Amino acid sequence: MGSKTGISWTDSTWNPITGCSKISAGCKNCYAKQLHDKRYKAYHADKAMPEQYSTPFEVIRLHNNRLQIPIHWKKPRKIFVCSTSDLFHEGVSFYFIEKVWDTMFDCPEHTFQILTKRPDRMLEFANWMADKRNRNIDYHNVWLGTSIENQEQADKRIPSLLATPAQIRFISAEPLIGELNLSKPYGFDKPIQTQAMEGISWVIVGGESGKAARSMNMEWAWSIRHQCKAFGVPFFMKQLSQANYPHTFRDINSFPIDLQVREHPNV
Ligand code: SF4
Repeated sequence: MGSKTGISWTDSTWNPITGCSKISAGCKNCYAKQLHDKRYKAYHADKAMPEQYSTPFEVIRLHNNRLQIPIHWKKPRKIFVCSTSDLFHEGVSFYFIEKVWDTMFDCPEHTFQILTKRPDRMLEFANWMADKRNRNIDYHNVWLGTSIENQEQADKRIPSLLATPAQIRFISAEPLIGELNLSKPYGFDKPIQTQAMEGISWVIVGGESGKAARSMNMEWAWSIRHQCKAFGVPFFMKQLSQANYPHTFRDINSFPIDLQVREHPNV
């Protein structure tokens, strides 16, 4: 269901699909899976739980009855789409994603933020929609982002993100578990290479949270901060790692002074 959220860079969440499966190292301690597994167990122990918890996390569920939810929200807001799953998971048909797009199109007053670890499929979808409608799809109120936890995933995911049209393209480097160089050239067409930062309008950085959180070396965060500064890209420091700062990792006042930065993209 859509709801208010504790995520510092958005206003509300909207989950027209549920379920997902792990795809890379960043998924290791997936919060959505941990929460779902607990509720799945409770459901099967006859505790009062919504029906969506009758199936394991890895079963993708498409909730047609949630497609209209943002249309009923009167106050314009930033909406994080699929906060507990991945809209571009292989188990979600392009026909269903198209319905999600239609809702976003019908709500020009809202801004929709979509974050995926499968930007190659996001690009495929954008091309599929453009072919189907014989024009580029409307992205005026849609921000598209990819999650990147280390350089290996940066190199895999950034080219697809850069090739996908969006009002804002962004990177969420959370959980950050390695150093990131976002200033290197990327591109599909060999002669046309773009530095990631030239096509990116926002970078979020966060350490991991939870009992099994992995460390985040502060140098990695500083390095991204410097790269963003050099390219004039807004930078948002969401949190430190709970492994390093168990009690204060979310308290911006306890971050190193030059990481107490929460900028937003210029729209
Ligand atoms: S892609 Fe996201 S929701 Fe899916 S398993 Fe990985 S961390 Fe969890």
